Amino acid sequence: MTKIDAGIEVRDAHLHNLRNVDVEIPRGTLVAVTGVSGSGKSSLAFGTIHGEGQRRYLESVAPFARRLISSAVDPQVGSIDGLPPTVALQQSTTGGGARSTVGTVSALSNSIRLLYSRAGDNPKGLYSDSFSPNTPEGMCPACQGTGTVHEPTEASMVPDPTLSIEEGAIAAWPGAWAGKNFHDILAELGYDLDSPWQDLPKRDREWILFTDERPVVTVKPTRGADQIQRNYEGTWRSVASYLTKTLAETQSDSLRKRVLSYMESRVCEVCGGRRLNPDALAVTYAGMPIDELGALPLDRVHAVLSAQDPAPNSAEDLLLRQIVPALQSALDLGLAHLSLDRPARTLSAGELQRIRLAAQLRSGLFGVAYVLDEPSAGLHPAERGAVLDICRRFIDAGNSVLLVEHDMDLVAQADWLVDVGPLAGERGGEVVYSGPVADYDADTPTAKALANRTLSLCDAPRPATGTLTLSGVRARTIDGLDVSFGLGQFTAVAGVSGSGKSTLVSTVLAGVLRESASAVADEGDEGDAGDDAADDAGSAGEAGWGVDTHAGFDAVSRVVQITQRPIGRTPRSTLATYTGLFDGVRKLFAATDEAKRRKWTVSRFSYNLKQGQCPTCGGAGTIEVELVFLPGSYTTCPDCGGARYNDETLEVTWHGLNVAQVLDLTVDEAADVFVDEPKILRAVETLQAVGLGYLRLGQGAPELSGGEAQRIKLATELQRSRSARRGHTVYLLDEPTTGLHPADVALLARELNSLVDAGQTVIVVEHDLAVLAQADRIIEMGPGAGSDGGRIVADGTPAELAERDTATGRVLAARSA
Ligand code: ADP
Ligand code: ADP
Ligand code: ZN
Ligand code: ZN
Repeated sequence: MTKIDAGIEVRDAHLHNLRNVDVEIPRGTLVAVTGVSGSGKSSLAFGTIHGEGQRRYLESVAPFARRLISSAVDPQVGSIDGLPPTVALQQSTTGGGARSTVGTVSALSNSIRLLYSRAGDNPKGLYSDSFSPNTPEGMCPACQGTGTVHEPTEASMVPDPTLSIEEGAIAAWPGAWAGKNFHDILAELGYDLDSPWQDLPKRDREWILFTDERPVVTVKPTRGADQIQRNYEGTWRSVASYLTKTLAETQSDSLRKRVLSYMESRVCEVCGGRRLNPDALAVTYAGMPIDELGALPLDRVHAVLSAQDPAPNSAEDLLLRQIVPALQSALDLGLAHLSLDRPARTLSAGELQRIRLAAQLRSGLFGVAYVLDEPSAGLHPAERGAVLDICRRFIDAGNSVLLVEHDMDLVAQADWLVDVGPLAGERGGEVVYSGPVADYDADTPTAKALANRTLSLCDAPRPATGTLTLSGVRARTIDGLDVSFGLGQFTAVAGVSGSGKSTLVSTVLAGVLRESASAVADEGDEGDAGDDAADDAGSAGEAGWGVDTHAGFDAVSRVVQITQRPIGRTPRSTLATYTGLFDGVRKLFAATDEAKRRKWTVSRFSYNLKQGQCPTCGGAGTIEVELVFLPGSYTTCPDCGGARYNDETLEVTWHGLNVAQVLDLTVDEAADVFVDEPKILRAVETLQAVGLGYLRLGQGAPELSGGEAQRIKLATELQRSRSARRGHTVYLLDEPTTGLHPADVALLARELNSLVDAGQTVIVVEHDLAVLAQADRIIEMGPGAGSDGGRIVADGTPAELAERDTATGRVLAARSA
C-alpha cells in the first residue's frame, strides 16, 4: 500500500467487527470510505476515528469524568497518531428538540435576529433575544411562544357528563395508581361518586375540576382482597391543575398527547399564532416582520437579503456578508425549498445533514477532520456535485474529509479510497484497499461497482394489470395535478429534491390508499413502531391534501408503507422481537423438558417480562449512563454482561444454547441452528434475502441504521405477505436505497421485483440510477423545487426518459451505453 507523508495512522482497531485493522489515511484530502452494508465502514469512520476524537475532546473539557467517559465512549483502538480534532455529521432523523427548526439547526436564526435588532426599523431598540419565540424576552406571553393555547374546560375533561365519577366520568384522570389516588381522595372527602356528573352541584363540579386548593387527606384505599391495603396521606390536585402541570413537565410524547386530548386547543388570540410578542412583531426589515421572513423559502430569503444595500462596514453590512453566502451554500445543496421556520422533525435525514453541512461552512474551522455519512442522500444525481464542492471547500480551508459514501459517481471523484470488507459482519471488518481511487482494481463488490457504472435501461416494461388514477391533486406545492400509477408494475417517482415526490407518494397516494383499501398494514403494527405510524397519518392530515376524483382503488385490498423511521428507540426492541421470530424461539424454550419441569412458560423467556429478565438492566442488556455531554449513552450492564436475563433463566438450554446465546447469533448462524424449524427459518431467510445476514438477532434498535431498519421492515412485510394470501397489495417506499452499497441495492431490487412478478404493485420514491434504470415506469416530478416543482415533467419507461431533456432524462442518457 502507498506510503503517506502526513496521515492519520490507525493501529489495531477492533471495534464491533473490525479485525485488528491498521490503516493510514492521508490528511488534507478527500477520502471516500466504502463497503457493503455491515462491512464496518461506520465502525471505522465514526466508531473508531470520530470516537477517539470525541473521547479526547471530552477528556479535555471534563478531565474529572475520565472514568465515566471511557466506559461510555470506548473506540477500542490500539492507537491513532496524527488525529486532528474530528467533527462528525451523521445521518439521523432526530433534529434536536421539539422547537428546533431549519433556522436553529443552521444557526441562521441567530444572525437574522441580530439583523432585526441592529438594522430593523426598531423603535424600541429591542435586543436580538427579543426576536425569538423560545426566549422569555421574545415569546408571546399568552402562549409561551407556541402560538397555541391549551385550556382545560369542563367539556374537554368530562366528555360524557351522563356518567358518574365511579363510571369514569373524569376521563382526563391518569390511569393506574395516580387516577385511583384522586378517586380515593374524593371518596374520603365525601363527594358523590355515584350520581351522573351532570347532576352534581355546580360548586362541587367546579371544585373537582378547577380548584387550586391542595388538601391532604388520609386515604384508606379499597382494593381487591388479595392486595395490601395500607393507609397513606394523599394530596389532592384538581383535574385542570393535574393536566396543566403534566403538560408543563412531561418529557413523554405519548403522555403529552394524552393530556392535550383532554384540553381545548385554539390559536392564541394575543399573537394570532405568530408566537412572538407584539413589540417584536412590530419591527420590520426589508419591509417584513421576522416571522414573515421565516416563512419564505430560502431562495426567496436569499433574493430579498441580496437586494439590500447596506452602508459599507455597518453592522448590517457585516451581518449580510455572513448570512448571504451561508444561504447560497444552502441553495447549492438543494435546500432552496425549505423555510427557516420549518420544524426539524419534518425534514428528511438527508435534508437535515445538508443543513448542518451548510452551517459548518460558516464555522471557519481549520485543521479538523470532518466525518460525513452519505451527504448525497435525498439528492438527485444532478444535484450531487454540490456535495463534492462543499467537501473541496472544507479541504481548501485546511481540513480533511472522510466521506462514507455509496454513490460510485461521487466515490470516483475522491482522492483516496478506503474500502472495508470484503463482505458484511464477521465476513467483513478488514480494510481491503487503501489507496488512490483510480488504482483500485480487485475482485471486490466496490471495485466492480466502480468499474461498471454503465446502466442498461428497461424498455420492455411489465404490462399494467390495472390503473390507479388521481385527478386534481392538491397538497403543499402540488396544485391540480393529474396522475396515474399502474398496478402490477414497478414505478419509480424521480425528480430533484423538493420537487414534490414525497408529497405525491407518501402523503397523497398513501392517504387515498389508506382511505380506500380494506386493510392497511402500517409498518410495525405488530411491533414497537405503532405510535410512529400513527404520527405519520397525523402529519398527512396536517399537510391538508385533497383530490377531486380517484378511480381504480377498489382493486387494492392492502397498502404497506415502509419508511426509514427507527423500529424503536430503546435497546428493548430488537431484530428478533420486531420480526416476530422471537415468539417462535421462546416457544422452543418453553417446550424443553427442563422448562416444563420448572413450570416455565414462554413469558419466562421474554427479557421484557419480570420473571426472566436481569433485574439490574430490566432486560435491556445495557444501562444508560448519565453524561451531560453525551445524552443517550449506553454501557453494557455490569450484572448480566449484556445477556439481558437472570442466571436461572439461562440454565435452560435448547440444542445446547441458552436464550441469550440465541439472541447473540447472527441471522446467518440462525439459518443453520433453526434449519428444522420452518417458521423461524422463513423469517431468517427473508432477512438474508435483503442482505441482513450479518445482523445479530438481539441487535437493539439504537444500533441499527435507518437503511437497516427499513430493510428489516421490508423483510418482515415480505414474510407476512408470503405466509398468507391477502389480495392485491401496494407497497410504498421512500428512498429505500439510502445507506446501501450498489451490491446491496441489487439485492433489494431483486426482492422488490419478486413482489411485482407475483402480481403486486411497488411504488418507490428514488434517486438511485440503478433502481430507476430497471423500473417499468418512471414518473419525474419537477422541474424545480418548492413552487417551481409540483408538476410531472416526464413519464415513461427508463429508455423513453433517456430521450427527454429533463434532470433525470439527462443523467440516464449520460450513464447508459
Ligand atoms: P457499515 O457502516 O459498513 O454498514 P457497521 O460498522 O455499522 O457497518 O457494522 C459493522 C458490524 O458491526 C455489523 O456486523 C454490525 O451489525 C455490527 N455493529 C454495528 N454497530 C454495533 C453496535 N453498536 N454493537 C454491536 N455491533 C454493532
Ligand atoms: P421531494 O420528496 O421531492 O424532496 P417534498 O414532497 O418533500 O419533495 O416537498 C415538496 C414541497 O413541500 C417542498 O417545498 C417542501 O419544502 C414542502 N414540504 C414538504 N414536507 C413539508 C412539511 N412537513 N411541512 C411543510 N412543507 C413541507
Ligand atoms: Zn401567543
Ligand atoms: Zn443486566
